[in-house]
Amino acid sequence: MLSFLEACTIIENEILNFEINCEKVSIEDAINRTTAESLIADVDLPSFNNSAVDGIAVKYENGITNWKISDEISAGNFNDSEYKDSVEIMTGAKLPEIFDTVIPLEDYRMINDSAVLNENAKICKGMNVRYKASDAKVNEVIISKNTFLTARNISGAVSCGSSEINVYKKLIFGILATGDELIPINETPKDDKLRVSNNYGLSAAVTLIHQQSINFGFINDDYNKLKNKLKEMLKSECDILITTGGVSVGKYDYVKEIFSELGVDEIFWKVYIKPGKPIFFGKYENNGMSKLIFALPGNPVSSLVNFDVLVKPSILKKYSQPQPLKFKAILKNDIKKNDTKRHFVSGIIDVNKNEVITHSSQSSGNLAGFSKSNCLVEINEKTLNPKNGDIVECIMI
Ligand code: AMP
Ligand code: MG
Repeated sequence: MLSFLEACTIIENEILNFEINCEKVSIEDAINRTTAESLIADVDLPSFNNSAVDGIAVKYENGITNWKISDEISAGNFNDSEYKDSVEIMTGAKLPEIFDTVIPLEDYRMINDSAVLNENAKICKGMNVRYKASDAKVNEVIISKNTFLTARNISGAVSCGSSEINVYKKLIFGILATGDELIPINETPKDDKLRVSNNYGLSAAVTLIHQQSINFGFINDDYNKLKNKLKEMLKSECDILITTGGVSVGKYDYVKEIFSELGVDEIFWKVYIKPGKPIFFGKYENNGMSKLIFALPGNPVSSLVNFDVLVKPSILKKYSQPQPLKFKAILKNDIKKNDTKRHFVSGIIDVNKNEVITHSSQSSGNLAGFSKSNCLVEINEKTLNPKNGDIVECIMI
């Protein structure tokens, strides 16, 4: 059976090689998208010499501590007068060529129409001048291709004059749950039924990594119905299909068999991890188009943990998004682990104290406990039964 790291490498390879198209979006819609082009300065930045502070603009001469002030220039209100005397100048205002230095407000006092330098003030030539092109020259790359755009990049893009940006299209995930036990969210479970939670949790997880999802609902463990639904999903516009449930070795676990019948190539089935060992990964190629298929186990904790540790990191990498934060922390309880799988144990980390507590019930169905967690404690294959006081690695979720 594949190890966790082997599975990660295979998935990453497929996802990084998966072709995605580009689209133009307006600057308002570009946040959290990834650039498919470099953004180039169309002017020098800044495009004129200007003052970094409020003060007076002077022509520096050694020993001079007194300047006659006869005019003012504020930001955006430059006029090309012939300045005989020094001028009052505001932050961001264009500095006339005859001046080379700006003395800040707190370093002088006004006596009548003259600025007199304070005794303890230290000035030097060129101080407080922001020079033309000192941030970037025209045609310089301001934001490189493959940048995941944050608010500060958006401001940077505007300074390049980019009102529209070419970005990679979002991946579209199609999500389907399977199982006879499932009922819709707005019904109250009776007997052996339970509310279908996986689609919603996974679709939220997809949104959080700034991709798109289509909810295909749920389908019973009925071979023909399931086959029709999977056929429909394979024909859809989705790039990646995620199913949950029916992928283990149970009598009614049809998902894998049907995918194979519909022409999906198996890349792997089963990874030596807990939770979520039965995960299936495949690829469907048709008319030059391909889709990646993840069939995740039905247990809601397993499906979300599998998504977080196996699918999400590669998508983040493809879109140059930051990886989930990892912390080392002191484990505050014992954990039972008697096998050599890699375990992902949900818990609550206090990052200020560097301490983590894991839930006593790690049942893969325990959504109540899982929803209180903020991290997964990752326990390597070789580590057995970590103890209270051990240092463990935690992935923020
Ligand atoms: P399966 O992987 O189909 O064998 O399902 C494993 C467990 O997960 C069973 O206890 C199911 O009842 C539960 N389960 C399956 N699908 C879902 C779902 N969409 N939402 C919540 N629980 C589910
Ligand atoms: Mg099932």
